[in-house]
Amino acid sequence: MTNKAKTQQSNTLESPLVFARDEHNVSRNELSENALKVLYRLNKGGYDAYLVGGGVRDILLGEHPKDFDIVTNATPEQIKKLFRNCRLIGRRFRLAHIVFGRDIIEVATFRGHHDEQSSDNQKQSKQSAHGMLLRDNIYGTIDEDAERRDFTINALYYNIADFKVYDFANGVADIKNRVIRLIGDAETRYREDPVRMLRAIRFATKLDMQIEPSTREPIKRLAPLMAHIPPARMFEEYMKLFLGGKAEQNFDMLAEYQLLEYFFPHIASDMKADDNSASVQFVRKVLRNTDLRINQGKRVTPAFLLAAMLWHRIESQLNTLTEQQQMPFQDAFFTAMNEVMAEQQRCIAIPKRFQLPMKDIWFLQHKLPHREAKKAFKTLEHPRFRAGYDFLLIRSEVEQGDLVELANWWTHFQHASADTKQQMLKSFKPTRSRRRRSPRKRKKVAE
Ligand code: ATP
Ligand code: MG
Repeated sequence: MTNKAKTQQSNTLESPLVFARDEHNVSRNELSENALKVLYRLNKGGYDAYLVGGGVRDILLGEHPKDFDIVTNATPEQIKKLFRNCRLIGRRFRLAHIVFGRDIIEVATFRGHHDEQSSDNQKQSKQSAHGMLLRDNIYGTIDEDAERRDFTINALYYNIADFKVYDFANGVADIKNRVIRLIGDAETRYREDPVRMLRAIRFATKLDMQIEPSTREPIKRLAPLMAHIPPARMFEEYMKLFLGGKAEQNFDMLAEYQLLEYFFPHIASDMKADDNSASVQFVRKVLRNTDLRINQGKRVTPAFLLAAMLWHRIESQLNTLTEQQQMPFQDAFFTAMNEVMAEQQRCIAIPKRFQLPMKDIWFLQHKLPHREAKKAFKTLEHPRFRAGYDFLLIRSEVEQGDLVELANWWTHFQHASADTKQQMLKSFKPTRSRRRRSPRKRKKVAE
């Protein structure tokens, strides 16, 4: 297919709509100092330099973007020559990172089309048997670059040379009408990169927009393509979907479009069986809590929500191991944690730095019921006591029963004076029988 035919097939425009400076609100005041530095340096170096993607889109929507993506006709090597603080990264998608301490500005080179069969292109681009792009490093012109972008609202370019916004796919109109619309044929674009299905959902919830019918229609049907996405990329998407303040909405939409099972297969199947099951109720509460904290500007650890997603799976594994295989409680608990973690890594690759806190949170659930003096103080001093306690609190809201008393006890104990603490520990003694209800004790009693 020639490029011309391709242009006609996709919904990009023959020539872009151009919005002059007085016709849009993208002001340099909205850009970070570092983003401006990079744009100017590229421009002075004789290259084209545009702000593109989320930066332009969000400013047009009246939001303040947190990161700025820049695109240029300079190749990564040419970019590297212009900036001392430049690192070239990526295999699938080669990019330049301009590093200013902790702030990194991402600079990409215009992407071109993949259909030319020259041997040089074959080296730079690669497709899997499922039509997925494994490598995307063919450089092109700005209009080709626009066609390779995902959604119309993301194909807007702010030119630092003339301060105009170039709109290649009617993105400004879609922003106005609050529509998420893929550029080109939706099925082809999802096959090239199934993550675009997740991005459609994320932008719909983040920007409070509707997914246009032909962009929405193929999602359920093509959802199984998600199985080919490497777990490391799934983790990145997990972070964006669940730690951006719209976790609950994203969770519901992922479930609706049958995409949730590629992140959390057990919760997805619990949900299909009973949307109101204890595991789903618990996860929902944690999602709500996470969104609330993020929207209040409080810190959240990705480990907490991950621990919640897997908690009921741990419990059911634990039951199987203690009841059916007669494994001692302690061994069963560690085995269950390790098995569930390993199983989860096949979907999303959770980095070690989050795996450890997750295990601590789970481990503390097993420690918190033990309130003999020494053990209680040890638990209180655990570096992740706070997360473990918060987790227990939410569990108690769903599970009720004994957990409510346990959660209340810890609520008082942690803030009590030394005297009150001693009293609480003493008055706890008569309720020792509660401990016998734990599977471990039950087994000992049976012996
Ligand atoms: P945000 O940063 O708020 O998540 P964004 O649109 O900037 O939104 P990025 O992931 O930073 O998203 O990507 C920057 C731009 O790169 C996008 O706006 C889009 O134009 C393009 N892009 C990113 N991922 C893809 C993809 N999978 N397929 C096609 N284009 C993409
Ligand atoms: Mg971005």
